[in-house]
Amino acid sequence: MNSNLYALFAARFPKDKQACAIEVPESKATGAARYYTWDDIERATAKIANLLAKIDLPKGSRVAVQVEKSPEALLLYLATVRAGLVYLPLNTAYRESEMAYFLGDAEPGVVVCDRRNFSWLSRLAFKSGARHVFTLNDDATGSLLERAGHCSDQFALAQSAPDDLAAILYTSGTTGRSKGAMLSHGNLASNVQVLKDYWRFTSKDVLLHALPLFHIHGLFVACHCALISGCKTIFLNRFDTAEILQKLPRSTVFMGVPTFYTRLLSDPGFDAETCRNMRLFISGSAPLLTETFNSFIARTGHTILERYGMSETAMLTSNPYEGLRIGGTVGMPLPGVSVRVVSDTDAYCAPDEIGNIQVKGPNVFSGYWRMPEKTREEFTDDGWFKTGDVGKFGAADSDAKGYLSIVGRSKDLIISGGYNVYPKEIETVIDGMEGVLESAVIGVPHADFGEGVVAVVVSKSGCKLDETTMIAALKSRIANFKVPKLIHVVDELPRNAMGKVQKNRLRELYSIK
Ligand code: AMP
Repeated sequence: MNSNLYALFAARFPKDKQACAIEVPESKATGAARYYTWDDIERATAKIANLLAKIDLPKGSRVAVQVEKSPEALLLYLATVRAGLVYLPLNTAYRESEMAYFLGDAEPGVVVCDRRNFSWLSRLAFKSGARHVFTLNDDATGSLLERAGHCSDQFALAQSAPDDLAAILYTSGTTGRSKGAMLSHGNLASNVQVLKDYWRFTSKDVLLHALPLFHIHGLFVACHCALISGCKTIFLNRFDTAEILQKLPRSTVFMGVPTFYTRLLSDPGFDAETCRNMRLFISGSAPLLTETFNSFIARTGHTILERYGMSETAMLTSNPYEGLRIGGTVGMPLPGVSVRVVSDTDAYCAPDEIGNIQVKGPNVFSGYWRMPEKTREEFTDDGWFKTGDVGKFGAADSDAKGYLSIVGRSKDLIISGGYNVYPKEIETVIDGMEGVLESAVIGVPHADFGEGVVAVVVSKSGCKLDETTMIAALKSRIANFKVPKLIHVVDELPRNAMGKVQKNRLRELYSIK
């Protein structure tokens, strides 16, 4: 049996292959509206798969992709999977030094990038052993599609076993080194099958898609659910409140990070009438404030369904489709997924007792790319993955019995606008700047982004630091979402008796007003 993930999708494409699969509405960026049928998806992905296959890469080769969101980027993903290669999406915000690390670590056989980055990125790509660098621009131009245009629109699906890799997603590391989470065809297939049923997706749905495609949420949750259901996607290049309000009346499902929901609520034009055809709003990737959850019900009559997952595991828990959705919780383990909350010695915590969240299931990744030791550290001897999140199950005598709540992150992760920011990585860059003695980076509540990045910096004696210049310098070195919104220059960092910087204290002192 062939366990290639593409086969799972293709088997569920609608019988009417001329039906619309993807609609890209008319906008300033896209010009006229564009429509892609299911037949277009099959033929275009066959052409790209043929092009990739012609390069004759060894099995398991990576195809690293840093491109703006477009339907063609989704087609490239599907073609990579179809050809039995490993898809490696990279955030478009990553700069040269970050890309040098990813390409050096992943050693992709093929790199695909926007034409604007071709000159420096191709240099890095060839240095790390890539055989080909193609361009793919968000207006459907570039060498990838030009070359694929000459290939056949028929392709014999590559044979894949359930454990064969389908994708690698890089997550930033607290130690400063990013880790590539290796996800197999089996991991992704099991998760999407569960989600489709749990969230009741059908071919009649219309998914409004405004998430990026380089992250698990937009690609493996949103797109996968639409593909396996054979339903149409209204495909927006980015989140824009006015555009969402215009498209919601024609949609039935929306997935977002909490920031999307706070932005919608801040528009007075967002109301129950706008949501008249909607059946489901899903939130994840960062904590949804109870205040947002409640305001959303009051404004629209809809109860947001919050779920929890991560790059290493795909989706883990969800509030129920039918039944009580409880704000401030991420619901119950999905069918087939085991979730436990344990103490630092791996003893089971009682309900309502806070501990470390560990998980097991067919969706859980096999390990970090070329990091066997890190992988061993992150799994218990009996195979539970340590998520790094801290939480609790609801009290036995409460409505929240069996519902998981996340109370914090043991790994000190900051989530800003749905993106992960690891303080250690930014501290290392700041500490390397001229005149800096040391720094501490923290996440503080931010009305729009959920959490905002703030840096507290101590200067070397006799040196004067200028916050604005530092922020400008950081913008050229690291992705924008990681750049501190504020930098405070202080005489010294508060420390506890053990010499550890007291980040809690910093969070109290330096909130964003
Ligand atoms: P990522 O790998 O980028 O998807 O980030 C995964 C992390 O996001 C998890 O380990 C959690 O810390 C956090 N996360 C995801 N969903 C939620 C949620 N619904 N509530 C709180 N934190 C979440």
